[in-house]
Amino acid sequence: MSFDKIVKYVKKRYGVDVTVREDERSVFLAGECDNWASIVAIGKLFVTEGKHVVNDIVLKGHDEKPEYLPQLQDNALDNTDWDVVVIGGGISGCSIARELTRNKLKVLLVEKHSDVARGASGANNGMVHAGIDLKHQCLKLKYGVAGNAIYGEVCKDLGVDFRRSGQYVIFDSRLIRFFAKGTVKRAERHGIPGVRILNKKQIAEAEPRVESFAVGALYAPSTGYVSPYQLTIAYAENAVQNGAIVSLNTAVLGLDVTDGKIVRVRTNRGRFTARCVVNCAGVFADKIAAMAGDRYFSIHPRRGTDLMLDPKAEGIPTQTISMGPTLKSLSRFGKGSTKGGGVIKTADGNYLLGPDAVEIPDREDSSTSIESMNNVFDKHSCVCPTLKKNDIIAFFSGVRAPTYEEDFIIERSAKVVNFVHVAGIQSPGITAAPAFSKDAAAIVVDYLRSTGIDVQPNERFDPVRPRPVKTKKLTMDEWDKLIKNDPDFGKIICRCEEISLGEIKQALRNPLGVKTIDGVKRRVRAGMGRCQGGFCMPLITKIIAEESACEITDVTKDDPGSNIAVGKIKEV
Ligand SMILES: Cc1cc2nc3c(=O)[nH]c(=O)nc-3n(C[C@H](O)[C@H](O)[C@H](O)COP(=O)(O)OP(=O)(O)OC[C@H]3O[C@@H](n4cnc5c(N)ncnc54)[C@H](O)[C@@H]3O)c2cc1C
Repeated sequence: MSFDKIVKYVKKRYGVDVTVREDERSVFLAGECDNWASIVAIGKLFVTEGKHVVNDIVLKGHDEKPEYLPQLQDNALDNTDWDVVVIGGGISGCSIARELTRNKLKVLLVEKHSDVARGASGANNGMVHAGIDLKHQCLKLKYGVAGNAIYGEVCKDLGVDFRRSGQYVIFDSRLIRFFAKGTVKRAERHGIPGVRILNKKQIAEAEPRVESFAVGALYAPSTGYVSPYQLTIAYAENAVQNGAIVSLNTAVLGLDVTDGKIVRVRTNRGRFTARCVVNCAGVFADKIAAMAGDRYFSIHPRRGTDLMLDPKAEGIPTQTISMGPTLKSLSRFGKGSTKGGGVIKTADGNYLLGPDAVEIPDREDSSTSIESMNNVFDKHSCVCPTLKKNDIIAFFSGVRAPTYEEDFIIERSAKVVNFVHVAGIQSPGITAAPAFSKDAAAIVVDYLRSTGIDVQPNERFDPVRPRPVKTKKLTMDEWDKLIKNDPDFGKIICRCEEISLGEIKQALRNPLGVKTIDGVKRRVRAGMGRCQGGFCMPLITKIIAEESACEITDVTKDDPGSNIAVGKIKEV
């Protein structure tokens, strides 16, 4: 359909006067509308082969919430020079920084929060997707399948748990089972190994708890599970181990461009130069692009809520179970904006129910609403009919960063020569990162070489990041030996997750220098169990104060300002 016709349709359907402008890379939309979902829907109508949509239709009466920026102001980075500056400490930025350290390069990663994995990489399902839902050739498919294939190797190197235990997509009708044959053929074509259809008897053997309603299942054995924040942290730590610098509480505030080249990066911690800049800023990737006058795509934030279930809940499946399409929803199969979700058994053995997908106007709005929680429960609890709402022990939301084209952008800018975009990294970004990080790093290195820089391999690169001790995984004999060596490993601080003082101290001595309650939580799961930190948080606060030689009132939950205690009511 021509743009003129779409403009007329938009006026009729949404009552919006949209103006359209085009250049060689993008279609730019402007106008005003009083409904965010309509703005996103209008943006999608203008998606056209070979061009990106930049949607500047304004939501009437809405003031965008101010972006989180660190209060810290110093000159720690002033007048420094870097070969590569990576913006954003999510899985994209951390994995790319680590891949770059395979070369002798001065690499700086800047993250505006007080730890890595604070954006989408810290709030997602951790499913290493097989890729069965992706219908067409696209970067999500290319890197999703390639990333999945190397996950075991990467996690082994980085000392992170990874479980490849597959995913069952349940059918409750024989007709759907017939249609699923097409998915099996497509998976074969896309190089996704082992996808097959299980009959009622086979699925009942694998997961007896679905016998009452499943007539069969699509089984994807290559689906795996990882702790997304632990992997992100491990990538960052390995990058530091190999020479990169990670600067936390550091926000990029501006990019100075001269003659189509970034000549200076401006932050709250000083101004510095970079031969090449990599944009991995998640939901802010288009804003970072705009700082360099290179905004040719737009991100529309899409929130997903997950519910964490009590592992002791009655009838909870022991495997990851998603509900396949029903006859009613068949027409939407593979077209939705989530990968299905369901009951997911995480890498840590917990259970998540979700997620949903809600388009939102504010990029950092990771709030949870009762409406989303009810929707998630109603949508996914069908895979476990005995589940009750009081089996929910915690909940969280994360915000995805899709473009209107719903694909990743991993390329060097056509307008600003030393600028690489890694944007639109929505699901399956966790799955795909091990693969796209290698290509993104190669784009940077190729560019640097093209400018005459002799980029040499880093002979001291060590891909192995030492695996942190997890007492829970040790045999009694191993644990006993460890305690004899260091009695702190025998003092349990977090009772729910069985985390010892030794593990907490180990987490606090991390190479990124993070000493916060949530930093400990992300590293060793202390406070993530049934009581959600009710018992261990005061103890951990005290341990942090001791380790950091500061007052308890100085200890923060996460970002500066999130102090746990405001004063002492008695000596502790
Ligand atoms: C609910 C949900 C479920 C998901 N489930 C899965 C799944 O099961 N499997 C899967 O493969 N994928 C999943 N995803 C997708 C996955 O989480 C993302 O694709 C991935 O985490 C994106 O990583 P990123 O590094 O690109 O972005 P982010 O993790 O968002 O990182 C971007 C970082 O940039 C920083 N930043 C932004 N602006 C600046 C600035 N100006 N200066 C400095 N720093 C800045 C931010 O603070 C942030 O830390 C899910 C996503 C959600 C929300």
